[in-house]
Order: sequence, then C-alpha cells, then structure tokens
Amino acid sequence: MSEVIEVIPDRIKRVNEACKEALGEILLEKMKDPRIGFVTVTSVEVTPDLRQAKVWVSMMGSEEEVETAMGVLEKATGFLRKELGQRVRMRYTPELKIILDHGPEVSERVQGILHELEEEDISELGSVISALMKAEAIGISSHENPDGDSVGSLLGLAMVLNRAGKRVFPCMPEPWKYPPQYAFLPGRELLVDPDEMEGGLELFVALDCSNPERLGPLQDKAASAAMLLNIDHHEDNQLYAGMNLVDAGASSTSELVYKVIKEAGWPMGPDIATCLYTGVVTDTGRFQHINTSPETFAIASELTAAGADIFQVVKEVYDNQSLAYTRLLGRVLQRIKIVEDRELAYSYITQLDLDETGAVLPETEDLIDHLRSVRGTRVVALFKELEDGKVRVSLRSRDGFEVGPIARSLGGGGHAMAAGYTSDSDVEGSIAGFVDELQGRSD
Ligand code: AMP
Ligand code: MN
Ligand code: MN
Repeated sequence: MSEVIEVIPDRIKRVNEACKEALGEILLEKMKDPRIGFVTVTSVEVTPDLRQAKVWVSMMGSEEEVETAMGVLEKATGFLRKELGQRVRMRYTPELKIILDHGPEVSERVQGILHELEEEDISELGSVISALMKAEAIGISSHENPDGDSVGSLLGLAMVLNRAGKRVFPCMPEPWKYPPQYAFLPGRELLVDPDEMEGGLELFVALDCSNPERLGPLQDKAASAAMLLNIDHHEDNQLYAGMNLVDAGASSTSELVYKVIKEAGWPMGPDIATCLYTGVVTDTGRFQHINTSPETFAIASELTAAGADIFQVVKEVYDNQSLAYTRLLGRVLQRIKIVEDRELAYSYITQLDLDETGAVLPETEDLIDHLRSVRGTRVVALFKELEDGKVRVSLRSRDGFEVGPIARSLGGGGHAMAAGYTSDSDVEGSIAGFVDELQGRSD
C-alpha cells in the first residue's frame, strides 16, 4: 500500500500548533454565545504564505445544534482572526476557514466515550463542561478534613478555570487545616477563605463530597448558587445537586476532573497534572487499593506525559514526614489492639498525643495504612480525638469485608472498603460503640 507523505516544514508546524492553541483559548475565553456548546479545535493548517488557515473544529451535540454552532463560528471568523493576530505574532494573520471535523480520530474518540459511558452520562459530561464554560464566576470546594484527592481536584480545577478567564473562588471548608504534606502543590495562592467567597454565585462545584453536609460551613454558599455541580466518586453519593457527575467506578474525584478537562480540550500543564496525579496516587494508596483499575494507570500515564512531577509527589506526600508525626506513629503502633474473633486491629490518637508530640491531625491521613498491614486483620479502625472532644473514626477493610455500611449506620459514609464517621462519645466510648456494632454483624 503506498501512501503520500506530505512534508510540512517545522516552521509551519509550529505556526499551526500556535494557532490551534490560541484559537482554542479564544473560543474558551471570548466566545460566550451559548449556542456554541463546547467546541474543540482539532487542527489548524496554515498555508506557507500565511494568507489562509483551515481550522478544523469538533463538537458534540445533535446535528441541528452543531449546524447552529457552525453558523455562529463562521460569522465570528473576523473576530477570531483579530484575536488570533493579537496572540500569535505573524507577519500576516491568515483568513480563517472553519471546517467541521468528522475525521476518524474524532469519531473514534466519541465512539470510545460512547463505549465507556452510558448515553445519559455523555450528556452529563457535556452539560458539565458547558456549565463550566458558560459561568463567569465559580465557587469550588471539597470536603472537610481535606485529603489528597480533595486538595488535588480542588486546586487542579481552580487553575484550569482561572486560566480560562473565570473568576474562581476555590475554598476549603477549613482552610486553616490545610494538610502540610500538600503544601508543595501549585495553585494554593488561588484559595480564598470561606467568608471571602461570594454568595449567590452562578455555579458552585462540590468536589469529593458524597453529601452536602461534607461542605461544612460552605453549605450555605453552595445552596445560594444558581447551579450546584457535584463531582464525586463515592458509591453512597446522594446525587444532591442540580448536576451530578458521579462515578463510583472512578479511582478518585481527581480522575473525574481530569476527564472533564480532557474532554473540554482545556490545556493542561505540569502544575495541573501534578495536582490531579496527587489525588489519584493518594486515593488509590499508591495504586494499591481496590479502586485501582487499568484506567487508573492509563490516566496516571497521561498525567505523567502532561508533565506531572511524579517523583516530587511521592517525596512530598510519603517521604517527608515530620519528626513529630513519626513519634506519634510510634505511639499509635505501640497501642494497637486486636479483636481476634472479628479480625479487627484498632488504635487511637488523643489531643494529648498531639500536644506532646507536636503533630497535627491533617498529617495523620495515611497513618491507618500502617494498621492494615498487620497479618490476620480484615478490618482496621483508627480513632482520632478532635479538639471539641468528638472522635473521628477512620475505617479500612479488605478480603471482601465492607466497612461502608457500618460507617453509614453510625452516621458517616464513604466507600465499601474505606469509610468513616464522627462519634459524639469520648475515645473509649467510641471504641466500645464500634466494637459492639461489629460484634452485632455477621460477616
Ligand atoms: P477517612 O478515614 O477520613 O480517610 O475517610 C475514608 C472515606 O470515608 C473517605 O472517602 C471519606 O470521604 C469518607 N468519610 C469519612 N468520614 C465521613 C463522614 N462523616 N461522612 C461521610 N463520609 C465520610
Ligand atoms: Mn476525599
Ligand atoms: Mn476521593
């Protein structure tokens, strides 16, 4: 089979790429016409004399919607050309010809998504993207006691939207409890305090929250927004928002945010990729938990290719513990108790432990993994005394034993094998209550 190979000089290739990127940004930032749902520039081909450029675009939607959007784009070519001239320095700014891309690559991509998701999910992903594209001011938050997934997805999404020219209000319900092991992540400077977030925003995005209560003091801001978008991967998600992008099969919320960004065609640099990679790595326990799938590795690979600093993530998150934390770990391991007939291992942390070691609770997020490696256990529990005297209980399980239902029956929630709740009793009472609950259950 013979094939005609066209030789494109490097210079023109660079011009093509620069125009493609610039036009993508212009469409995103400047074209607010709602008739243009979401559109991706798939390629640009500029003639060597720079007089003309063919711009291939792809979009999702019904035939009619695509036709309308094409009409709007064609009318806007003068505007697009002017904007392009300001962003890409060329001797001459080419006339633009917009062409609808039906190419095999696009239909393959759409087919791939069709294959992966149910039809309603597609429109869901599409409507999520168009809601994000249309809103000009957006609040974003993840859950209280933030973990790597909530911090990573929050900062990653905040940076993308900020770069798309939106006014973003990314916020943590408890910003003063920012976990020190995620201090290295980029985008942190965008965070605002809860009282700095405007009320009545056009859009509020809740990340990694199975129910609105997980937003803590930000619930009011979420409720006052014109539209609430819930992006999450908890199986017990209550689909509480106007728009719910919930996939319990996803390893992490960061994975879902990655899919949104990729599908929207937003540019993703190393900083955003590093945030999202952090979410994937921490929620999968470094690709070891049950939520790790071939797709998780594929996404990790794509994030690595996008420039995620995978070595820095591991170094900062796992190989950078404070001495205070390490001493606290010693205490917690020292006092592990085993309840043999229930294959349970548990331990606890008190406020006195924190005072005496100097450790802080946010850095103890992975401590429970040390308990679960004890041979012969199927369930592990870690009881952490909070400042107000209540106790946060973290549960993990394996070999088919599910702690999700136990956490739910005790007023919390989570995944089948990683769940939690908050108990009103003291440490001793909380332990007794949990052991009772476990004893009362058959396998
Ligand atoms: P943790 O032990 O805090 O890492 O939590 C394990 C999992 O359970 C995470 O997915 C949490 O989102 C979830 N979880 C923990 N506490 C609660 C709660 N009070 N309500 C709902 N979900 C929770
Ligand atoms: Mn989480
Ligand atoms: Mn998560």
